[in-house]
Amino acid sequence: MTTVLERPIDFSAVLATVAAVDDLSPHLRRVTFVAPRIADVVTAGPDQRIKVLLSPPDGGDLRLPTGDDWYAEWCTLPAEERFIMRTYTVRALRPAVAELDIEFVLHGVNGPASAWVSEVSVGAEIGLILPFAVDTSSTKGLLMSGVDYVPPATSLSRVLVADETALPALAGILEQLPADVRATVFVEVPDIRDIRALPSPGRVDITWLPHTGGPDDAPKSLLEALKSTALPYDVDYAWVAGESAMIKQIRRHLVNTVGLPKPAISFQGYWKRGEPQI
Ligand SMILES: Cc1cc2nc3c(=O)[nH]c(=O)nc-3n(C[C@H](O)[C@H](O)[C@H](O)COP(=O)(O)OP(=O)(O)OC[C@H]3O[C@@H](n4cnc5c(N)ncnc54)[C@H](O)[C@@H]3O)c2cc1C
Repeated sequence: MTTVLERPIDFSAVLATVAAVDDLSPHLRRVTFVAPRIADVVTAGPDQRIKVLLSPPDGGDLRLPTGDDWYAEWCTLPAEERFIMRTYTVRALRPAVAELDIEFVLHGVNGPASAWVSEVSVGAEIGLILPFAVDTSSTKGLLMSGVDYVPPATSLSRVLVADETALPALAGILEQLPADVRATVFVEVPDIRDIRALPSPGRVDITWLPHTGGPDDAPKSLLEALKSTALPYDVDYAWVAGESAMIKQIRRHLVNTVGLPKPAISFQGYWKRGEPQI
């Protein structure tokens, strides 16, 4: 069966310039990008995914993709000649000044995106694949527009689970949480100094799990933290995003122990330990 979307979805590539670099904490760096076309970018939700494009491993120039078949063409190129492509979240968009922020995790120089951001300075250029038309008229349209946080309109009590890579998405989700919605939140970060304020109009209860610097008796994983917490009786939706093995464990727990129906859980692998994204 072919599903026809109500509205067209359009993602295209833009060459953007770094306008500012700010360290939010030891492992999270905000980079502000500017490009005239960013004035026309639209987002479908607070966890809007986009692509970051870097020069190919062979050192060739970054040529921005064009045309409808660019992905198929990209796949046929030898790996050394393909531009590097990684997925990130739009943390903030300011169309009036054609600016967009991404918050990058600094996880070392073992990945090209993390290596790039660890040395980035104002004036550097990068490719971004950004949304210029999204379909927010249905759940399917939202998912196809690049968001995964799609709670039902009736949802009043949510569980949100994130590691540091999903912290930018989580921050956006909490900023937009309606005042009558309760969020029970679990966040894992590399270090206690990565903990930061996450303002929200909603009713939010946050458990932070720093890998280092936390109390000795704190839970050692997000799963342990969830298991040792009595969740509100009326939880009706969960969003889980972060490392691939972690999200699977959490989903299993939410289904088998908490009793949430599978369709009420959005879970997204943001990265896989020991493997490059693609
Ligand atoms: C929808 C979506 C939204 C995302 N949003 C963001 C975002 O806003 N900010 C952000 O920082 N990331 C985000 N990510 C995660 C990001 O795409 C991955 O971390 C990606 O692997 C980084 O690329 P890289 O080139 O640095 O490393 P890769 O080349 O992909 O991986 C190299 C090595 O680094 C390891 N690695 C990757 N990420 C981490 C990490 N965080 N900690 C420790 N080791 C790691 C891999 O396991 C691998 O061994 C998002 C992912 C998705 C799918």
